[in-house]
Amino acid sequence: MQIFDAGTRFGEYARTLYPGGVLVQADWWNRESALEETLELLTSGSACVLFEPAFLWKNTFVRCDIFERNDATNWSLWEVKAVAAPSASHIFDLAVQSAVTMNHLEEIDPKYEIAVYGIIHLAGKTAVNALLSCAVKEFDINRSDFTEDTIRLLPEVEHMIDVANDVVADPNPPTIQVGKQCHKPYECPYLGTVCK
Ligand code: SF4
Repeated sequence: MQIFDAGTRFGEYARTLYPGGVLVQADWWNRESALEETLELLTSGSACVLFEPAFLWKNTFVRCDIFERNDATNWSLWEVKAVAAPSASHIFDLAVQSAVTMNHLEEIDPKYEIAVYGIIHLAGKTAVNALLSCAVKEFDINRSDFTEDTIRLLPEVEHMIDVANDVVADPNPPTIQVGKQCHKPYECPYLGTVCK
């Protein structure tokens, strides 16, 4: 819970680094509204930075943390992580967001491009306690560019999205036993209930 709170606070702090950024207001579960709001902001050119824009590709829905306009058709996509050193799973998360966003944008208008895929994270060893302390108002951050890693991972992510869609479309549930994948990189919420 503390880690979740720290992540929320750091996410809110990261938005303050982009004064004038516009938050897509639609709730997470209100996909249609979020997609419509995002499209309006993208095409009207009214915002240089979008927070929580929504994208959908092949049944995969994402909300990016920060989407920064470089020029009329060129963007940078930033995920925000309250860690000092992004891990492989953070970079994979970024690649999933990127694959969906990139392909969705291409469907809207092939002129759209994403030049930078990166992660905004803590610099140095800012502890979770500091993130939770109201006394600490500012944090040192790094903007790490993972564009090369992301582009390398895109084919794998796109293949996984196809496989996931096949699994969902199959009337027979997959026969996967409980194993390491249930714990890493995250504890699966179905462990102990649906899967025992
Ligand atoms: S607990 Fe989760 S990850 Fe593990 S087998 Fe069940 S659904 Fe899959």
